[in-house]
Amino acid sequence: MSTGSLRIGVLALQGDTREHLAALREAGVDAITVRRRSELDSVDALIIPGGESTTMTHLLREFELLEPLRARLAEGMPAYGSCAGMILLASEILDAGSVGREAAPLKAMDMTVRRNAFGRQVDSFEGDIEFEGLDDPVHAVFIRAPWVERVGPDVKVLARADGHIVAVRQGRVLATAFHPEITGDRRVHRLFVDIVTGNA
Ligand code: GLN
Repeated sequence: MSTGSLRIGVLALQGDTREHLAALREAGVDAITVRRRSELDSVDALIIPGGESTTMTHLLREFELLEPLRARLAEGMPAYGSCAGMILLASEILDAGSVGREAAPLKAMDMTVRRNAFGRQVDSFEGDIEFEGLDDPVHAVFIRAPWVERVGPDVKVLARADGHIVAVRQGRVLATAFHPEITGDRRVHRLFVDIVTGNA
């Protein structure tokens, strides 16, 4: 598939949707917001933005998107999640939130993610980290960020911060605990587009 014929959605229930749309458009992709079932059905791939995973879970249920999204991911739709999006893509979430208001795993990647893991130490920090496959380090911004505590055998670790896993890929699913969408560096989005088109 060529980049020009691609349509990638950004889940737009809550969070930093606009920044992801801009990053995708700069990468030459037709990017749309996804709030409805028909929009979800029309995209080749989906980004789940940063925000608040418990609120997004609540809204996914309200908008009747939770099960359709799980189904599309189970069928192999490529996806990228940043921060809250990483949490939701996991198969298991630790510290998922208060009872009745937990973040629900979409189970697109075989990994255990701890929500607000860095947040317990420091709310927000940034730094340059090595990212597998990219020549120069990525400037990574962490905001009440999760980390990955366990990965399954098919998950490739792409980056670590302070020894903790913060970027992963399993097949056509990518996740970062940080927010490349807000730094203007488009390499992670370009990597995702290459994953979707089968060029990475
Ligand atoms: N702590 C948030 C959550 O639990 C994630 C923070 C973020 O996306 N910047 O969803």
